[in-house]
Amino acid sequence: MIGLQRVDRIYIECMRAMLFEKPGQPLRKADLVLPKPGPGQVLIRVHACAVCRTDLHVIDGELTQPKLPLIPGHEIVGRIEEKGEAAGRFEIGDRIGIPWLGWTCGECIYCRAKKENLCDQAKFTGYTLDGGYADYTVADHRFCFPIPDSYSDAEAAPLLCAGLIGYRSLVKAGNGKRLGIYGFGAAAHIVAQVAKFQNRELYAFTRSGDEDAKTFALALGAVWAGASDESPPVKLDAAIIFAPVGDLVPQALRAVGKGGIVVCGGIHMSDIPSFPYEILWEERSVCSVANLTRSDGEEFLSLAPKVPVTTEVQTFPLEKANEALERLRSGRIQGAAVLVTEATETSD
Ligand SMILES: [Zn+2]
Ligand SMILES: [Zn+2]
Repeated sequence: MIGLQRVDRIYIECMRAMLFEKPGQPLRKADLVLPKPGPGQVLIRVHACAVCRTDLHVIDGELTQPKLPLIPGHEIVGRIEEKGEAAGRFEIGDRIGIPWLGWTCGECIYCRAKKENLCDQAKFTGYTLDGGYADYTVADHRFCFPIPDSYSDAEAAPLLCAGLIGYRSLVKAGNGKRLGIYGFGAAAHIVAQVAKFQNRELYAFTRSGDEDAKTFALALGAVWAGASDESPPVKLDAAIIFAPVGDLVPQALRAVGKGGIVVCGGIHMSDIPSFPYEILWEERSVCSVANLTRSDGEEFLSLAPKVPVTTEVQTFPLEKANEALERLRSGRIQGAAVLVTEATETSD
């Protein structure tokens, strides 16, 4: 619990956090000293933090450069309780969101070319910076976003990665009408709504035998749902792969027509098997999406309430982070898993 703990005759403020210490081990519940906001930073009382597949890649050791020990979590919603020096963008009490991109240098060739998602020195929330699996966190005010009022804390949390990276993937996929999505989890359930709003036709590819995911995709407006090794009834203009499965790349290339694009939306994927040149021929292309820029966030968060994007969430108390991660790993989360704290505000 948050509270005061007596240490050496001084009282210091403590918070709960779920700590990642070593790949392959469950997160450990710990009581830590509250972080202090440095220059340009704000201290946030965390209300909700969504659980992302990237968190699993970190915890499983597939992303190999984490800060250790680490507080994971990069889809954070909370209210500002304290401001460091020169952190004037928000006021105390403002509700803000903290995404994966936590800091960039502003000086490298990528930053100067408005591609800060590729910054050589970038720091990432819940990976190289402590994140939101805790009662409090600090963040650079320049990389935070105001949260639209129409969302509750838990509903807003998945917008910050599943939404933002999903949106960046959708933009990369171009303007084609027939859009395939492989892996129908948190990102897909948000992108599906935006795609429908843009009058696209959505073709959903799910794990073979996952009838619930199929039903979920059809309920979100997909015109067709099938197993990932099935051929869609028509050639697609573009496909986005959210599942971390390299085998899907050749399958998706076979599903798109001439000039079609396959966008890999995740940060990690198992190896892509070799495939005949013929399925890439005729100007098909494959690309990845890395991180996000602040303008992706601004664009998406202003679009989301207009669609309006709704998010389906399953909430877990902070201490149940390991259970939420395990359910995500085994495909037993519909929509997005979100950790909540006592400070969580609902929309009702
Ligand atoms: Zn840079
Ligand atoms: Zn994420």
